[in-house]
Amino acid sequence: MTLWHKLLKLGRQHPRAAGVAGTVLLALAGLAWLWQHAALDTRTRKDAAALAFEQDPDAWLGQPRPVSDFAQAAHTGQLKSVGIANGKTGLVLYTLASGDKASTVVPGCSALGCAGTVLDGIGERSVAAGFTLVGIDVDGRSTSQRTLGAVESATPPLLLMLVIGGGLLLLTRLQTQAGQHASTLATRPQTQFADAIGNDEAKAALNRVKAFLHDPAQYAKLGAAAPRGVLLVGPPGTGKTLLAKALAGESRAHFIAVDGSYFTATYYGAGVAKVRSLFKLARQHAPCVLFIDEVDGIGKRATGGPGGGAESEMNRIINRVLVEMDGFDAMDNVVVVAATNHEENIDEALRRPGRFDMLVRLNKPTLPERQALFELYLSKVKHDGHADCATLARIASGLSPAEIANVVNKAASNAAEQGADSVTPDHLVRAVETHLLGGEVSPMKELLTEATRHRLAYHEAGHALVGHWTHAGRIERVTIEPRGPGLGVTYMTRDTEDPLYAQGELVSRLAMMLAGREAELMVLGSVSSGASDDLKRASELAIQMVGQLGFSNAFGLLSVAGIPKELLGPDVQAKVLDEARLLLEQAQATCRDVLTTQRRRLDALAQQLLCTDVLSGEPLKALLDGATAAEIDAVAQTDAAAHADTAAALAA
Ligand code: ADP
Repeated sequence: MTLWHKLLKLGRQHPRAAGVAGTVLLALAGLAWLWQHAALDTRTRKDAAALAFEQDPDAWLGQPRPVSDFAQAAHTGQLKSVGIANGKTGLVLYTLASGDKASTVVPGCSALGCAGTVLDGIGERSVAAGFTLVGIDVDGRSTSQRTLGAVESATPPLLLMLVIGGGLLLLTRLQTQAGQHASTLATRPQTQFADAIGNDEAKAALNRVKAFLHDPAQYAKLGAAAPRGVLLVGPPGTGKTLLAKALAGESRAHFIAVDGSYFTATYYGAGVAKVRSLFKLARQHAPCVLFIDEVDGIGKRATGGPGGGAESEMNRIINRVLVEMDGFDAMDNVVVVAATNHEENIDEALRRPGRFDMLVRLNKPTLPERQALFELYLSKVKHDGHADCATLARIASGLSPAEIANVVNKAASNAAEQGADSVTPDHLVRAVETHLLGGEVSPMKELLTEATRHRLAYHEAGHALVGHWTHAGRIERVTIEPRGPGLGVTYMTRDTEDPLYAQGELVSRLAMMLAGREAELMVLGSVSSGASDDLKRASELAIQMVGQLGFSNAFGLLSVAGIPKELLGPDVQAKVLDEARLLLEQAQATCRDVLTTQRRRLDALAQQLLCTDVLSGEPLKALLDGATAAEIDAVAQTDAAAHADTAAALAA
């Protein structure tokens, strides 16, 4: 193969590089032509005598003579031609009538001229003596000096260019290096679908992809469209990465994981190069699951606007991902799994057939799944075997699998910090509580006065009792330890995760929300600011019940939420508020009833809370409904005495 053919082949393989090289070559050729043309132009406009000096100046410069020789030759009329170097350097090249060539440097010349030197009046003398006088462009230095000078003057700009070029090269390397690092990302995970609890629908969908990864030929044979792209959508920590990894594990495929930000680069074009190298890598490692986490980082196509370069770069990255996916061969055993928490940010083009056309949704775990998750993660730590995973699962409503894993880990760390032998149920419940309330027991605990603790105890006991006796739900735990923003908490759970709430359940919830304030009012004769959040939530619920949930007498079957804005006059608003207030007043009456009939239990519960700060499990259950009247009386009497003491202390 000739060199030309080789170059042509290289050019075809790297069309962009060939384009750049061609442009540079053309530019260089153009410059050379211009330079030659300019030199020719200059020459045609020069005098023949000047040209003779300039073409071979070394013939004169090699014969340096003192100025006196030049002066004498001028006086005696021996000069044939004289060339004075432009630039007032005092360099003179001259040819004698005998044909001898010589040069001299006249001292005393400056930027202002050569007045007062031997060159003074040289023009008149040339006319009088008849020798040729020309100005010449000649450098008086020797060839090596000239070369050294050229090198010296070119060094600073060259150095600058080197620094800039080096910097750019380094930047490009850094930007694209991650692409090379991706090769170290290709792993062969052992994870299986069984390692992920729940999400059965997602597993069923991914099983189809697994079938393809096992035998792509079967799809190719039948001409069936292979599943190429899977979009996993779900809240954080619900197992998107875990399932993608399990897909690779089950399919005995490689797993390459990157996230959306992997492609974004400040250097223009580097992101697109990363996409290309990543897909190349995936093909090299086929069968392969290429996992792109937080794909919304690149998945939202910019639609003009002021974003400029960054936005168009993002569009180019998306386009490149699409081109790569469209270019999958029937036998390319690669599946791209993308994950996002923000489905709405995914560009429509990404969802077209042949791209991320399989949508798999992941949800937060259900009650039994949460129980299984607690069991799974507890089996990984040393525990005393008394943990009640069913209760933990009920309390941990709304937690994702990752959060449950984290809570169990937190409980184990706390146990280790306390020097315990194993993780106890208390460690676990406290870890869940810390997670739900957004913080450990706050230092404010030390600042609470006895009177405030007393009020808090009755407030929480009120919530717990009314919640229990109106069947709002199961009361799991009551505390008067301040955590996060709350000073005390009553945990209530539902036995089911039924998405529907019966009217009775909501009415009971309303009563429970108001019960803290009512208990304060009944026992202490006044209310505090601590009930403000309860009132706010109760009002919101009552308004929702009237306006949206269809529990209204005034509106019947009409939902206020469905009424167009223009029909929502002040009369409608007033009716909603009136009816909501009525609901709250009914709930208040229920509260008062329960608290009056359960007063003994209220006192006993509050007293116990003041002693232990926290109540849960059997002791709580006993105080709520199991304790005998005598027991409650005993506690209540103690409490009455304590209450009297507190009242006396407050009065003092
Ligand atoms: P996502 O990608 O949805 O944010 P991950 O897959 O990264 O969530 O989950 C983080 C961690 O949470 C996992 O490493 C695993 O320990 C745990 N986890 C998540 N989902 C499950 C699940 N379904 N079953 C068991 N553990 C899970």
